[in-house]
Amino acid sequence: MRCTSLLREYLFPANCAICGRMLFDKDECWYGLCHVCIPRFGLDLDVPRCSVCGRPLISEQGRCVDCRNTDDHAFDRALALFPYTGQYRKLLSAFKFAKRRALGNFLGAKLLESLAYFPDLDADTVLIPVPPRPGKLRKTGWDQLACLAAILERTKIRSKSLPVYRCLKRLPSQSQKELSRDNRKTNLQGRILCAKKAPHRAIVFDDVITTGSTLDACALALKEAGAEKVYGLCLFYT
Ligand SMILES: [Zn+2]
Ligand SMILES: [Zn+2]
Repeated sequence: MRCTSLLREYLFPANCAICGRMLFDKDECWYGLCHVCIPRFGLDLDVPRCSVCGRPLISEQGRCVDCRNTDDHAFDRALALFPYTGQYRKLLSAFKFAKRRALGNFLGAKLLESLAYFPDLDADTVLIPVPPRPGKLRKTGWDQLACLAAILERTKIRSKSLPVYRCLKRLPSQSQKELSRDNRKTNLQGRILCAKKAPHRAIVFDDVITTGSTLDACALALKEAGAEKVYGLCLFYT
């Protein structure tokens, strides 16, 4: 796959998704970002973070303001990597909406790098993508999380990382983006199901965390089916 991707980038040279500079060497083309912009997305897992959602804390201790005002979540613990603003927002937009697939290699690498945050992963832990709304593929032609899952799956073969397990199904519901914070909590209740044998331990991954309701619905479905621990991993937080 990497050869095909590199050949495509060679035949149709791309520009850096952030600064627009032409991409030249194979790492730049592989990640869809130039060597100047790649270090702008460094990951620091050691900064103080909310013990629930994993957003970095500014002046709070323990839990962020959002999590202090929220009832308990169904997931055990989550990690959110980057704020959904500025260059980070631009990165996700280029991947999700402009369908710059090479950026999936970069975001997939960030997800794998961040697994070190979870201390008790075992050989039975699996990575589960949040399932898309029914009809999304038909409407937009792709699902960014399915793309990331496929990339993580190929990486698993190379690096012996965690396996990807697609066991969640989503029934029709309104898009979370269109709803208020309160309505997000109820919109997905009972709308996400575990359609296969539940894993023992899982990390559910998503692109953006806002209220955590989507992760909650996934965690609830997995736990009702028998999962012992469910973590959440999100690339961006609002
Ligand atoms: Zn750049
Ligand atoms: Zn929090």
